[in-house]
Amino acid sequence: MALATVNPATGELLREYPEMELPEILSILDKAQEDFEQWRERPVARRAGMFARVAEILRVEKEAFAAIMTKEMGKPVAEAVSEVEKCAWVCEYYAKHGADFLADQPIETEATESFVTFQPLGIILAVMPWNFPFWQVFRAAVPALIAGNVVVLKHASNVPECALTIEAIFHRAGFPLNIFRTLMLTSTHAAVAVAHPFVHGVTLTGSEEAGRKIAAQAGTQLKKTVLELGGSDAYLVLADADIDHAAQCCVASRMINGGQSCIAAKRFIVVEGVREEFEKAVVAAMRGYAMGDPASKDTRLGPMAREDLRDELHGQVSRCLAEGARLLLGGEIPQKTGAWYPATVLTDVKPGMPAYSDELFGPVAAIIPVRDEAEAIKVANDTRFGLGGAVFTHNVERARKLAREELQSGTVAVNDFVRSDPRLPFGGIRMSGYGRELADFGIREFVNIKTVVIK
Ligand code: NDP
Repeated sequence: MALATVNPATGELLREYPEMELPEILSILDKAQEDFEQWRERPVARRAGMFARVAEILRVEKEAFAAIMTKEMGKPVAEAVSEVEKCAWVCEYYAKHGADFLADQPIETEATESFVTFQPLGIILAVMPWNFPFWQVFRAAVPALIAGNVVVLKHASNVPECALTIEAIFHRAGFPLNIFRTLMLTSTHAAVAVAHPFVHGVTLTGSEEAGRKIAAQAGTQLKKTVLELGGSDAYLVLADADIDHAAQCCVASRMINGGQSCIAAKRFIVVEGVREEFEKAVVAAMRGYAMGDPASKDTRLGPMAREDLRDELHGQVSRCLAEGARLLLGGEIPQKTGAWYPATVLTDVKPGMPAYSDELFGPVAAIIPVRDEAEAIKVANDTRFGLGGAVFTHNVERARKLAREELQSGTVAVNDFVRSDPRLPFGGIRMSGYGRELADFGIREFVNIKTVVIK
């Protein structure tokens, strides 16, 4: 696929961008390496301090940046504005805490002095997706930069204007020119950057398939990767849950970004006794997401990001129905151009159906009825993914144990839905990837954890 801005609400091709040729890519990597040598010399606190200006630009111009996201991938503009604000938050968070997270750590041994120090690695390649085209980039780039690395971005091919706008934000904030660069590349040609000797780490957010390919390419060069991939997050609704609250949370999580979120609630696992009440509450909440112009502030469900992704989702829904799932809402492609798909609810979802076994990346709620709590846990863990999950019950003690010991995922929320937060580590296990972003764990992914011992 070429680099292009296609408005998914109308299907209109707005602009195409030429892909960079090899000499230009190599020249950017050379310049990034040169700037790295100086950037790494700056004290952490000085590097971190520069992010206040980035945050200011983001906050002042949030409406304009939001409009670019909405135009390129169809996100409702109100959500896009919140996304820009969250980017400012991650800048401010690491500007405040980055130096502490990276301070040398003395460790007592028999030597006169021994300590651990966190030193930068060099160029980090960020391969990023279109679903949160600003947030994913800032989440990956800000800690890596504060740690003294430089970042080269290969953004998704359908959000080229977002990619160039983010590069421009760093330049306008007074960063050295090549500390953050965008490579205008499709995935077919990204291997050049992964293999380049100046690139010392790769962080990817995207599909399982992209994760496998990038990790394999990086692995042949023994380069570190952080992978934030898909999920099929299970939300357990137990017999003593506040059903209305549980349904509201499940639906709110499922419908963020039109359902195109790795940490959306994807499997609603409900015990039989409360199943009917829960189904009714879910359908009522999903009805509140009428499709509309994503540029309008009141819209809660815009188009999906691309027509091919919409068609894939509809194929998954159709297969579920063919295999015996019941449709409670939606499920039909509307007769209009653009990547539209309505809020859809499936129930009686069973093992083997796409909604049970795979990731559904769109506005489709999948209800899986189970006998009891024990079966709910079994079904929750019966997945190759392991990103997030949630449990709804009045018994908080029991929920704490379930969250801590029994649900196999990177994050578990109790009586709430999972969201990423700069203060908390974020990432998955199994096919959801490895490594952590955010918090102190995230800033220490792309550093040399160096041990110094003085006799
Ligand atoms: P991809 O995983 O293909 O795209 C994500 C990023 O990875 C893009 O920048 C893409 O570039 C890049 N990429 C993909 N393959 C390679 C490769 N071999 N080498 C280098 N870069 C690569 O996602 P899609 O857009 O195709 O979406 C498909 C599905 O992936 C979704 O339906 C969803 O299930 C999942 N997904 C998960 C996300 C998450 O947040 N975890 C985010 C996005 C998608 P390019 O655009 O040029 O192909």
